[in-house]
Amino acid sequence: MTKSDASALLFFIDGLGIGTRSPFNPLDNLDDAAPLAVFQNEVPTPFLDGIVVPTDPCLGVEGRPQSASGQTTILTGVNAPAQLGYHKQGFPNKLLIEIINAESIFRQLRDAGVGPITFANAYTDRFFIERPRWISATTAAVEAAGITFRTVSDLKSGSAVFMDFTNRILIERGVDVSERTEEEAAEVLARIAAENRFTLYEYFITDKVGHEQDMPKAKQVLTSLARFIRELLMRIDLQRTTVILTSDHGNIEDLSSRNHTLHAVPTIIWGAQRERIAARIQTLADITPAIVALLIGKKN
Ligand SMILES: [Zn+2]
Repeated sequence: MTKSDASALLFFIDGLGIGTRSPFNPLDNLDDAAPLAVFQNEVPTPFLDGIVVPTDPCLGVEGRPQSASGQTTILTGVNAPAQLGYHKQGFPNKLLIEIINAESIFRQLRDAGVGPITFANAYTDRFFIERPRWISATTAAVEAAGITFRTVSDLKSGSAVFMDFTNRILIERGVDVSERTEEEAAEVLARIAAENRFTLYEYFITDKVGHEQDMPKAKQVLTSLARFIRELLMRIDLQRTTVILTSDHGNIEDLSSRNHTLHAVPTIIWGAQRERIAARIQTLADITPAIVALLIGKKN
């Protein structure tokens, strides 16, 4: 295999930090939570040789880490909270959009001639019709790089994954799609990753449930997510594809508070290049440069 065949899947989970074992941590004593069962001061049990790198989401800026600035940092390699002077909640503002437009991982890879590159998530028709005024960091990054959004019809034809991967949220909204098992969703995402040099997938129910402080829901969501990830990893050619799972900040690992936590987040790396990637990562700002270096075949 040559360097130019290397590919990467970035699996982004909103609001998952490394917590302590406690009755407020839904991962504590949760059956079948691998590879997400990572706790402070404990050596994690590896799943398929994945390396866990506790990663700093605070980035030297005071306050609780937040989604807009954290996601911008993950997707660009720019320390966005430091640029802003604070952690920005919700959706990116003008400065963050400018950073994303100029520096997103999609942009960097496209400019370096690495392709094809893609965002695996499906967008609903409503997004294209109503075009929300505020868009997520990911949406901004996809748009700025001129990447085609996947749609519900892609979802139906088995070439997109919805953000809740089982499609249950879409079905509740009345969209005519079938429910998927974790295995079926994993099959689709693995195929997309095999067809592309870089694939991003985004999941954010974890953050929502963390804010709701709903323990039974949190356990159910994490069990299903962990299963999806295991099924996905078993379907991916880990010789070719490096899988990098990360989060923007903690939340769901401590349901005693409705806020985000100050905890490190788990970056977990699988594949033949895992050690090389792991060695580069300390903060959220290191994710994009590590992936870009891998895919353009640059030596460390
Ligand atoms: Zn949040």
